[in-house]
Amino acid sequence: MSPSIGSVRRPDARRRRTPGPPRDHLRARLLRLYAALERRFGPQRWWPGRTAYEVAVGAVLTQHTAWTNAARAVAALRAQRLLRPRRLAARGEAEVARAIRAAGTPRVKARRLRALTRWLLDRFGGAFAPLRRLPLAPLRCELLAVPGIGPETADAILLYAAARPVFVADAYARRVLVRHRLLRRGAGYDEARAFLEARLPSDPVLFNEFHALLVRVGKTHCRTVPRCEGCPLRFDLQSRGPAR
Ligand code: SF4
Repeated sequence: MSPSIGSVRRPDARRRRTPGPPRDHLRARLLRLYAALERRFGPQRWWPGRTAYEVAVGAVLTQHTAWTNAARAVAALRAQRLLRPRRLAARGEAEVARAIRAAGTPRVKARRLRALTRWLLDRFGGAFAPLRRLPLAPLRCELLAVPGIGPETADAILLYAAARPVFVADAYARRVLVRHRLLRRGAGYDEARAFLEARLPSDPVLFNEFHALLVRVGKTHCRTVPRCEGCPLRFDLQSRGPAR
């Protein structure tokens, strides 16, 4: 007896009936927010810096101050040819502090810069190539163990200087996510970072641009008092106002 073709269920027909994975609505929503920001503001081209080391130095200098102040300190270091790990490590704390005073709290930041530079030199001979390929989680832990390097600075270095897929979930990003009810009020840095990294494609170029765009909308619209009228993300709130 030959099998009856009519009695056999065709494999492609069965495949059509198999439900696929549920559509990730949060991911789709985040990507819509990103696209709207990109349409409005265009490429942000972060992080300004001629070398990976300069970007890492800038990440320390911009702690608790506006980027314009940090940029002046970076320029002063460049003028003194100190934007090279060995040259900066050879200078004393007081000398580095004098060079970076435009960034504020110069003694503290000089100590942090020297600690970061010492770690880079001791661990990698001052090179950034290993930061681009070593396993991310232990590398991040090592960086966090450097005195004065907190999660936001560590992630800025990993993302912007080493092109690793970590999201810098700073206060600007958290404020937008909370107001759009994507994150609970009071969520901390690590919770916000984990939320974004779990939902977005693990792409450092996307993380780089999305973070920069969230900072941009945080400065122009999503300020302490939100200016939703005219904000490129207004569509996502639909008929509701921002969460308080
Ligand atoms: S200003 Fe309003 S619409 Fe814009 S990001 Fe903030 S809460 Fe959303």
